[in-house]
Amino acid sequence: MNDHESNRSDALIAELCAALGDDVVLTGEAVTARAGDGSGAVPCAARAVLRPRTTKQVSAALAACHRAAQPVVPQGGLTGLVGGGVAGDLEVAITLERMTAIEEIDPVGRTMTVQAGAALQSIQEAAEAEGLLFPLDLGARGSCTIGGNVATNAGGNRTIRYGMTRDSVLGLEAVLADGTVLSSLNKMVKNNAGYDLKHLFVGSEGTLGIVTRVVLRLQRRPRSHNCALLALPGFSEVIALLGRLEEAIGGSMSAFEVMWREFYELVTGAEARTAPPIPHGDPYYVLVESLGARPEEDAVQFEEALGDCMEAGLIGDAVLGKSKAERDEIWALRDDVEQLNHLAPIFTFDVSLRIADMETYVADIKTTLADRWSGSRCVVFGHLGDGNLHVVVSVGDGSPEARSAVEEIVYGHLEPICGSVSAEHGIGFEKRSHLGRSRSPVEIELMKTLKRTLDPQGILNPGRVFEAERAPPT
Ligand code: ZN
Repeated sequence: MNDHESNRSDALIAELCAALGDDVVLTGEAVTARAGDGSGAVPCAARAVLRPRTTKQVSAALAACHRAAQPVVPQGGLTGLVGGGVAGDLEVAITLERMTAIEEIDPVGRTMTVQAGAALQSIQEAAEAEGLLFPLDLGARGSCTIGGNVATNAGGNRTIRYGMTRDSVLGLEAVLADGTVLSSLNKMVKNNAGYDLKHLFVGSEGTLGIVTRVVLRLQRRPRSHNCALLALPGFSEVIALLGRLEEAIGGSMSAFEVMWREFYELVTGAEARTAPPIPHGDPYYVLVESLGARPEEDAVQFEEALGDCMEAGLIGDAVLGKSKAERDEIWALRDDVEQLNHLAPIFTFDVSLRIADMETYVADIKTTLADRWSGSRCVVFGHLGDGNLHVVVSVGDGSPEARSAVEEIVYGHLEPICGSVSAEHGIGFEKRSHLGRSRSPVEIELMKTLKRTLDPQGILNPGRVFEAERAPPT
């Protein structure tokens, strides 16, 4: 930063302090004492961290930053996996950590209005206290915020039944780059009065506006919960099982998670927390779950459906989660992604593709990786019912060069089958050079047109999703 820029920056900080109050604007050691990312391993590098209490303060902050062309990084729980919320030293971070209120629950309309900094788990618990369900669920539930979930259109474990975050958002309030407050707090399921503007912000990764409040759609709380872990002899059986269960338990299926052999062996291995409920040795393990309204009938139907599949030779071993503790144990091994650190250094991927392409895709990347690095490991698991796989690769080398070589393999095999380089994690910094593999030039140009229209100074999360660009001066 040269002297002129430094003076301008000081003037902006002074303006922000005057407008928002000193306790909202953190600088110096108060910034570096904060975590820079979700790992907590690096200090926050931002020029300043703003902690607004109200939408009005978010608006005042953005208006000042807009006038000064100051880049801004919106922050939720910092649990993102693509670097979207990590602020650099020329950026000002705005955290929603003080805006955590659950403002209203309408048990009849089944809506909940919340501030964007509310943690996902607190929203789940508030819904439960009303006998309702907020269905979005992911491993980071305790620390991720609903604002971050909305900004990244988070997916998670129950997408097959309830959709992604987008499907649970009825309305929202967002502050635009220049400080304009867009209040679109719709509570109706049906509202076709013009463009549905909330969708501009859902999944925009903080590049089009800062979400400050959200109206969520709640569901009836399920009264029955069935869950099983199954071993399968081949991938055609995995596909056949999905089809059969969709027919047999219909709309109540809430998860169809698949673990390739290597993943299952890792999360139930000698060093893992969980002993294998089903012996090692099968190529695929499936976690299937259903949520319904009639506890007794649903359990019978679930077990009968699995029994039929077993008779048809689709399933080998099976373990039923009979109690909450047993179901939690099955989920715990699926969620125990920390075991992947035994393979460090690792590169992790989050891809989407047609279920019919999965077997060949995974076999192809494994072969290509093994040809290049003889000791390479490739561990695959994910939300198969949604077409979403997480691929974790270890080649014994964590260098940027190794990463780009691995990316070339994982994404290169995805292109001919029209898969997506991001199923549920977003693009952030990490994947922006690969956006063109999954989106056409026309699609990307329209995204940039929206960006320039809503954020002409290019201050909101610049460089995330695609390279930063400023509109030509007018
Ligand atoms: Zn996932």
